Amino acid sequence: MNPNLTADRPTFVTRLECSLTGERYDADTLHGLSRAGRPLLVRYDLAAAGAAVSRDTIEARPTDLWRWRELLPVRDTADIVSLGEIETPLIELTAEPGRPIVKDEGRLPTGSFKARGLVMAVAMAKALGVTRIAMPTNGNAGAALAAYAARAGIRTTIFCPADTPEINVREIAMQGGDVWRIDGLIDDCGAIVGEGARQGLWFDFSTLKEPYRIEGKKTMGLELAAQLGWELPDAIFYPTGGGTGLIGMWKAFAELEALGWIGSKRPRMFAVQAAGCAPIVKAFDDGVEHAERWENSHTIAAGIRVPRAVGDFLILRAVRESGGRAMAVGDDAILRAVEDTARADGLLLCPEGGATLAAYRDALATGLVDAGEQVVLFNCATGLKYPMPAAEQFLSKDAPIDFGRF
Ligand SMILES: *Cc1c(COP(=O)(O)O)cnc(C)c1O
Repeated sequence: MNPNLTADRPTFVTRLECSLTGERYDADTLHGLSRAGRPLLVRYDLAAAGAAVSRDTIEARPTDLWRWRELLPVRDTADIVSLGEIETPLIELTAEPGRPIVKDEGRLPTGSFKARGLVMAVAMAKALGVTRIAMPTNGNAGAALAAYAARAGIRTTIFCPADTPEINVREIAMQGGDVWRIDGLIDDCGAIVGEGARQGLWFDFSTLKEPYRIEGKKTMGLELAAQLGWELPDAIFYPTGGGTGLIGMWKAFAELEALGWIGSKRPRMFAVQAAGCAPIVKAFDDGVEHAERWENSHTIAAGIRVPRAVGDFLILRAVRESGGRAMAVGDDAILRAVEDTARADGLLLCPEGGATLAAYRDALATGLVDAGEQVVLFNCATGLKYPMPAAEQFLSKDAPIDFGRF
């Protein structure tokens, strides 16, 4: 048995806080957005957490997501429905100038890093007595929700754009989610979820509209710090849709510094979007705090086809504070990056992961990063979930074979 999930672990959550106004909320009741309509953030008594555990205590534990229990919100272990949330590996791209490191999140349950957020959010929903959940999704979040909710005995209704990758729609259905294809984009799906929630049908699990997915995604930042010897990298390239992971990592770094486990060095955060859907890039370039909805969104990278993000100002703040920037890359550059990495390094990226490599290449070419710097790229889902070019060479075993062809 995994001691991270069997031993008693104290929790240090003190309250929730509105990310815009700082208004405080009780941690042990069910909340969606704050009264100001913005995401709620979980706050901890970090002094007490730091007195209870040290870096060494954490490092002595098995290396999964639950080794960070004291920095996570779940109070009662019985509420955790785990599918094995492993620490994901760091893989150097040996064929790429500057040898950036890929954090390969495709190894997680349900094949994407959405598992980090949803394992946490579902545990908290279970703890707070939720029995029905609905969610808008571009695919991977719905798949992770369906899986964990099935295990927790919570009913799910999931809405996705009609052109969501087929495998995602089917895995949601297979894992017991009641999945509906909508003739619109993810925010259109979100409007349906919101209306159902107002009618009392279900609890709204949209990105950042409940407080705990960020806490799950935050573990990417905690993990990265531990894996790199408590010294953060020079730059992080993150494929940004709703931005949960980027916001979560930024929060993790602040918590680690407050604990005294890392210093004040921060990576420059690069929020990567697709040229066909780049609201955060536009807001960054315009120097504004909030992004406008991106009309006619299109890209092969479904996970970052998010025309409007409720946490836009949190993404933009983190990127600006870090000295990074928001960058857009075209679908051609994304596909080239995926293909190059598969051929030269044997690593199959998802399109969103390809986007981070494409942006890294642009950043290297324009001097935004230097080949001597330590750079981490996030590959957020397994490449096996996405269409691949056809491979159609046939041979008959009964006909003479020309071995000169191989
Ligand atoms: C959801 C998703 C993203 C975007 O993640 P956010 O934290 O919501 O910005 C990127 N890549 C993949 C594969 C995804 O599923």
